[in-house]
Amino acid sequence: MSPKILLVNPWIADFAAYDLWAKPIGLLYIGKFLREYGYKISLVDLQDRKEWDSEPETGKYIHSGRGKYKKTRIEKPDILKPIPRHYGLYGATPEQFKNELQSHSPDAILVTSQMTYWYPGVQKTVAILRKKFPETPLVLGGIYATLCSEHASKVINPDHLVTGTGEKQVLKLLDAMFDINRDYATIPDFNDEGLLPWDLYEDLDAVGLMTSRGCPYTCSFCATNQLHPHFHMRQPEDVIREIIYVYDKYNVKNFAFYDDALFTNKEQHIKPILKTLINRGLGINFHTPNGLFAREIDSELAKLMKRAGFKTVRLSLESSVKKWQKEASSKVSRQDFQNAIYKLKKAGYQSREIEAYLIMGLPGQKPEEVQESLDFVYKSEAISRLAAFTPIPGTKDWQRAIDNNYIKEDIDPLLTNNTVYPCASSDFPAEKYQELRHYSNQLNNKVREKNG
Ligand code: SF4
Repeated sequence: MSPKILLVNPWIADFAAYDLWAKPIGLLYIGKFLREYGYKISLVDLQDRKEWDSEPETGKYIHSGRGKYKKTRIEKPDILKPIPRHYGLYGATPEQFKNELQSHSPDAILVTSQMTYWYPGVQKTVAILRKKFPETPLVLGGIYATLCSEHASKVINPDHLVTGTGEKQVLKLLDAMFDINRDYATIPDFNDEGLLPWDLYEDLDAVGLMTSRGCPYTCSFCATNQLHPHFHMRQPEDVIREIIYVYDKYNVKNFAFYDDALFTNKEQHIKPILKTLINRGLGINFHTPNGLFAREIDSELAKLMKRAGFKTVRLSLESSVKKWQKEASSKVSRQDFQNAIYKLKKAGYQSREIEAYLIMGLPGQKPEEVQESLDFVYKSEAISRLAAFTPIPGTKDWQRAIDNNYIKEDIDPLLTNNTVYPCASSDFPAEKYQELRHYSNQLNNKVREKNG
């Protein structure tokens, strides 16, 4: 009998959370890999709004893959007490989770983790799992486990902790638990080709896709290179097969690309993918919650995006100021950005459909520099999406934040939550963040009024 492995996507714990077609893709890749090597897998995704929100007592599930999570208010951790907002768990209620566990009897449990400052959600999830299955080995992996491994070992106290690319590591770990022998020399570290185990969801309305893993750039604020040290792209045919299969089998029409570098090697990768899908005439919507590389958007790609069904387009800009662009790997210049907007508009996009990601509060950044970037996006007739900087362990900006006394090296990850404005200072006080948000909203409203 194959050992039964329960995959668990834990709660988010935060002041607010919004679902942008999120699916636990890393965990699903591990599930797929384990299945290929004979394990029986099941899934509890506590963040699956489709499952937990559609119960009669909580009202109808409305939106296709995007919307607010259901929130269960919980006591704020002491360290966050000064923040005048309610804190909570997002996704299933604790009762729903406990009920769901009645139908599982796993031989081992794999729990993933995401943002480092969401760890109380992992803690609460693991506490319930431990109570229900006290003898079952529990393995923790994912982003928080990788970036804060010491903290996670201490605070979550899993039986095993896996960092980085998890597939082969977890396979070896489980094989050792269940006395399974095999020749690991022939087994790759991971395998992104093939279908993710979407059959684990009872009802699917949107699917997350990764056509590549990792990123060729090394921006000062980003942890992608710690999580995926090598950039790897799937074969276009494999991606096309997955999209068509999911569309045919589950009638899914909303797909979100979760790549970090979707347009890299565009002639051999995204262009052939989109051309084939356009020829099939499927009527799919594509979403890009991660920023796109503006420099790569040429006239042909812009037209393909429009025809293939890319909805709101989100471009990575981070800043229009040269110094900060350099820190972000110089992957986009002001000219690149404006060229991309010009081409997207020629392809039929409206200003309100083109958004630019900007960061505020980088260590050493001045409020005027953020304002300049907002003005630049406004003048370029696009919508700004302003994110407050979060220092991520192991990045260049994490070190800079420590060296310049914005944060302490042993900071509780809870205090890196961008709601807390971890790098606020006398030069860039918390009120300035609010003012800049307000300013961004004003400019965005003007763009929408002017350009429809
Ligand atoms: S381009 Fe994006 S994913 Fe790549 S390192 Fe920079 S921020 Fe990270």
